[in-house]
Amino acid sequence: MKERFIVIGGDAAGMSAASKARRENSKLEIIVLEKGGWASYAACGLPYYLKGNVKNIEDLIAIQPEIFRKERNIDLRLNHEVTRINPEKKIIVAQSPQGEIELTYHKLLISTGAKAVKPKIKGIDSHGVFFLRDIASAIKIKEYLAERAPKSVLIVGGGYIGLEMAEAFYSLGMSVQIVELLPHLLNSFGLEIAEVVEKYIKNYVRLHLGRRVNKIREIDTGKLSVYVSTEQDKQQEDIDTEMLLLATGIVPEVILAREAGIKLGPSGAIVTDEFGETNMPDIYAVGDCAEVTSIVTNQNTYIPLALTANRNGRAVGSTIGGKKTHLSPVAGTAVVKVFQLEVATTGLMDIEVAQKYGFNPIKNTIDSRSRAGYFPGSKPIKISLMADRNTKKLLGCSMVGEEGVAKRIDIVATALYSKLTAEQLENLDLAYAPPFSPVWDPVLTAAKVLNGKLEGKH
Ligand code: FAD
Repeated sequence: MKERFIVIGGDAAGMSAASKARRENSKLEIIVLEKGGWASYAACGLPYYLKGNVKNIEDLIAIQPEIFRKERNIDLRLNHEVTRINPEKKIIVAQSPQGEIELTYHKLLISTGAKAVKPKIKGIDSHGVFFLRDIASAIKIKEYLAERAPKSVLIVGGGYIGLEMAEAFYSLGMSVQIVELLPHLLNSFGLEIAEVVEKYIKNYVRLHLGRRVNKIREIDTGKLSVYVSTEQDKQQEDIDTEMLLLATGIVPEVILAREAGIKLGPSGAIVTDEFGETNMPDIYAVGDCAEVTSIVTNQNTYIPLALTANRNGRAVGSTIGGKKTHLSPVAGTAVVKVFQLEVATTGLMDIEVAQKYGFNPIKNTIDSRSRAGYFPGSKPIKISLMADRNTKKLLGCSMVGEEGVAKRIDIVATALYSKLTAEQLENLDLAYAPPFSPVWDPVLTAAKVLNGKLEGKH
């Protein structure tokens, strides 16, 4: 029998692994089992499909199943849900359209991703309540929008998916409200940046910060009444809406791993070694179901993002194909478009979390501009930068502005990767011309002021 590599989950991590394993090893038998009817799709594009920027759902498929099968010799099986892993016998059990099947493996990859958190709210299964996690859930939303043309939506959760969807619904002409349990939107980006986003988004959306959804009631066909209150129920409000989107976060999809006795970390995601192998020999895990190593703390953490899934999937594919390849540590670099605002973050921005990791953090926020101040079209940029007082090394950065943020964050991501100090960041030779930045790029200014504070000069 040929050496067989089985992949559970056929999206970013799984298909990257399968493709890379094939490139490294033409003799391997590769089988991918995907429970849904789609593989290799861009979940990140779903808000833009719902908004209408992306016209066809098919456009979100990076590589068609037939290409995997014919050109890459990968046996991709859709509508196959793996229900059990037996690590002792090296067997997986799956439910296929033809009934239950069993397959043996030599190497196994768990790339089952994450699932949306379903909060315990009375009435959560009401008609008109949606999640957005995959293509199937996006199609349900699209159909509801087409059939009912709702005029209002309540979004529960002020993270990046909630905010992207706020823009999408608003651009469809709907009135949008967001309920967020925490006192701020985009909590992990830091207070200074969150406040800019909140002030800005109020032009488009009604915000309910520090509020919890307690109950959802269907009052009529296509009409919901949502009971929203503060934590201690001091203030309450019944909000009428025609649609509700739950964007309350995700948890790693680890049920198969847990039942097979595979080790999970404190985050609930799968723990692996530097090659993505779990505590069970020949079983690997990467993507949104697994922990990663933080470039800042050097510790395991859970940061589920697309590039990590693709890159680490590729690394495991390479290892299984015969070329041992380390997983990459991550900085957690993320960017989100909130209407015209670009909001971005990298590394650690929470002082308390940084202290828990033993750092002595100092954070400073500056205001600068996207282009030379005199140049037409120049827009404000706010940057928060954090470093460790003891080592002076950078810990993280967040920024917000209407221009020049989305890619400027990558300078700091690179600095984190290179373990630069605030002073070294200040001394980088960055490109300058008036239409693109002030002579002191906003990142350099942020580093200069923070370094001054570290040196006790400010
Ligand atoms: P997934 O993409 O979740 O794929 C896992 C696959 O496993 C699924 O297809 C699932 O059906 C399958 N599966 C699960 N269990 C089984 C089983 N038992 N048997 C068989 N198959 C199974 N990230 C960014 O970096 N930038 C963004 O802008 C961004 N935007 C996003 C917007 C939205 C709306 C969403 C939902 C996510 C976004 N992400 C973004 C996150 C990004 O999509 C994920 O990090 C990435 O898809 C993770 O890839 P994955 O392969 O690990 O998991």
